[in-house]
Amino acid sequence: MIKYINFSVLFFFMIKVDSFIKLYTLISLNNGKRHGYELMKELEAKQNRKISAAHVYPFLKELRKNKYVEYKKNGREKVYKLTKSGGKFVNNTLLKFNELIKESLKTSITKCTHCGCEVYNNKYNENIKGKKLAFCCCHCANSYKNGD
Ligand SMILES: [Zn+2]
Repeated sequence: MIKYINFSVLFFFMIKVDSFIKLYTLISLNNGKRHGYELMKELEAKQNRKISAAHVYPFLKELRKNKYVEYKKNGREKVYKLTKSGGKFVNNTLLKFNELIKESLKTSITKCTHCGCEVYNNKYNENIKGKKLAFCCCHCANSYKNGD
């Protein structure tokens, strides 16, 4: 049973930010006005692959339909810019991604058995007396074994 519906959350999910290209498009627009072409070039540099108009324009159009983005014509070029509500949308999206990243990092952070520093992705493990222990580096593992 639904007791409470948060409409701002529903509205937020009307646009799906489900790819790096979409996320980066938002980040780029958040940094300032962009030509569609400029945006494509930026994405190419970030992704290290060819980005076509078809990667970028449908999302810009979707953003525009939701009034998150507006454009001004500069000759033949359109210059895109976030609206005020677009800025809020980007902020919410980034916060959401930030939480996701923090959550996923949490599961992959362990503490070095010797020095206690946080280790990302369990880089160095050793089996000591039948126990798999995590260390930040081989030096800490050696110190631990030597009882330093
Ligand atoms: Zn250590």
